[in-house]
Amino acid sequence: MPDCIFCKIVKGDIPAAKVYEGSKFIAFLDISPANKGHVLIIPKEHYERLEEMPNPDGKEFGELQVKIAKAVMKATNAEGFNLLLNNGKAAGQEVMHAHMHIQPRFGTDDFHYKWTHKKYEEGEMKQFQEKIRKFI
Ligand code: AMP
Ligand code: ZN
Repeated sequence: MPDCIFCKIVKGDIPAAKVYEGSKFIAFLDISPANKGHVLIIPKEHYERLEEMPNPDGKEFGELQVKIAKAVMKATNAEGFNLLLNNGKAAGQEVMHAHMHIQPRFGTDDFHYKWTHKKYEEGEMKQFQEKIRKFI
């Protein structure tokens, strides 16, 4: 994808502060971090959304999140971290090459993840439970 900024990082056409490189994924520092030490993990292959990730790669992706999150925690002395994947424009994705954020968190930091909590009508929770179970 010629115009994709993350593909350019994969190819080495633009610089990035890489912390990990394997055959399928790389991880590097987010250039505008939520907190210092904020890392992005991306597949080397271009695809926009998590659902497009080839099946066997999901296992490696999950394992890498744990491995890199542990390293970020140690390196930053963070008290916690958020994993965040904005999947699709509606979910706030701005760079259209799938990526997982690992954001180190501190009790004193200044950002909050908030959403308004909706309510299920009577019986609706069961409907959603059944619908989702059917597709698994
Ligand atoms: P998202 O909103 O989930 O698509 O997040 C995209 C993230 O990519 C943002 O947090 C940006 O700061 C980050 N970003 C954009 N360009 C670069 C770059 N050249 N190097 C590192 N991080 C970048
Ligand atoms: Zn790309």
